[in-house]
Amino acid sequence: MNQIVLTEEYQRLHKIIKGGVSVVKEMAEAMTQMKEGKHYRSAGFKTFAEYCEDKFDISPRQARRYMLTAPVKEQYEIESERAAEKLLQVPEELRDEVVDRAKTRMGGTITAPMIEDMHEEIVAENERLEDDGTKPRPSLDDFDSIRGDLVRAGKKLNALHESTAGAHIRLTNVRPSLLNALSYLEAKRPEHVCYACHGRGCKVCKDTGWITNEILENRPEGF
Ligand SMILES: [Zn+2]
Repeated sequence: MNQIVLTEEYQRLHKIIKGGVSVVKEMAEAMTQMKEGKHYRSAGFKTFAEYCEDKFDISPRQARRYMLTAPVKEQYEIESERAAEKLLQVPEELRDEVVDRAKTRMGGTITAPMIEDMHEEIVAENERLEDDGTKPRPSLDDFDSIRGDLVRAGKKLNALHESTAGAHIRLTNVRPSLLNALSYLEAKRPEHVCYACHGRGCKVCKDTGWITNEILENRPEGF
């Protein structure tokens, strides 16, 4: 009797694991139950590793990885397996910040290289803070917010142009001004640590320690 119950449980879990490649979370939970409850035994497998290798041709290490990445994927709403693995390598206390930044920059979709970049960036910032006299990275929130405002203004303008009220508007006269404002602000974001003072403040960076893409690209030879 006990044997039958175990077999049913085996079949139930096995079915979930087999079909679960797209529903990784469910799969990982079933795997955990399969392993911890030793349900694989009822199908004649001596170990969980043997079950994984025989049934799925995956190593126990891979199976363990699925079980580890599933909770991270759920918690941070990450879809990519590789991104979740990468995030597991980030110290727990930095994960929130890493994911926050990655989502802001990528507009929601997170990739493994992005997580690596954001992690490096945060580690570098923390090192700089402990360092001497370097200025912290200025917040770019207002840049982001104004960009959003301008994009919205552009959309409203289009709608107005198509309405009766906006009948006298010539888009070709006004759109370039909006686009000009957008591209000007994009070019003025302080994205890099100043090459001249390494972030301590100088004339080049207007004593902020940070410079734009444009300034970095036009730096004198030798830097
Ligand atoms: Zn400087």
